[in-house]
Amino acid sequence: MLLTVLGSNGTYPTPGRPASGYLVTEGATIWVDAGPGTLVALLERASIAEVDALVLSHGHGDHCLDVIPLFNLLRYGRPRRDPLPVYAPEGVAGRLAAFVGAGPGHDFFRKFAFVTIAPGATAEVGGISLSWGAAVHPVPAVVTRAEGGGASLAYSGDTGPGGDLVEIASGVDLLLCEATDQGARMAGDYPYHLFAAEAGEAAAAAGVGRLLVTHVAPTLDVVASVAEAAAAFGGPVEWAAPGLEVEL
Ligand SMILES: [Zn+2]
Repeated sequence: MLLTVLGSNGTYPTPGRPASGYLVTEGATIWVDAGPGTLVALLERASIAEVDALVLSHGHGDHCLDVIPLFNLLRYGRPRRDPLPVYAPEGVAGRLAAFVGAGPGHDFFRKFAFVTIAPGATAEVGGISLSWGAAVHPVPAVVTRAEGGGASLAYSGDTGPGGDLVEIASGVDLLLCEATDQGARMAGDYPYHLFAAEAGEAAAAAGVGRLLVTHVAPTLDVVASVAEAAAAFGGPVEWAAPGLEVEL
């Protein structure tokens, strides 16, 4: 199983650093999250015809807005005959469709085949088994596990402490975990994202092989995020740098 980081910036892209997006390849190729900048990063590596499915962890713009230019690519570039399966939580398809003014029968619903996912859902895409659990976020959001070819990984999407992250990531080879903030959580801090140390704690609790921290706020130094996560995890930690490829 190959994980490719298309982008990993928390909340907004900066030059050379798209927002959240990843490719998971094992027989099939799954694009996970389509944050701003990730479509171009993907096209630098692959054709959209090679993508078997898109998984959107939730409907926040930094995780899904590249579906809009993707729709235009599919509509006007005609790179594929069949609709692209899109797995996304409740409400995401409707919000994206509304942006392009798509009512029933619109091309939007011929170019994409939306499948609503929720905690407990599973799917098979080529050689990859997907399963989802609950994230702690202010909109419907999931944590994702992918298994195939004897390897496994888990992805937090956006989540605060709790939810199903530790359960979904149990024993995986690699946990790709958001670490939006740094330092110690104080009373009243935003409950819907993780601090780097909390990502490390989740990795330790789940007993994962290695940790990649992602969704670090662009104003922060990723070296410090990695150090804080590593201190809490006690295992190997890296930053999910754009372009990074990890073979599992
Ligand atoms: Zn979010």
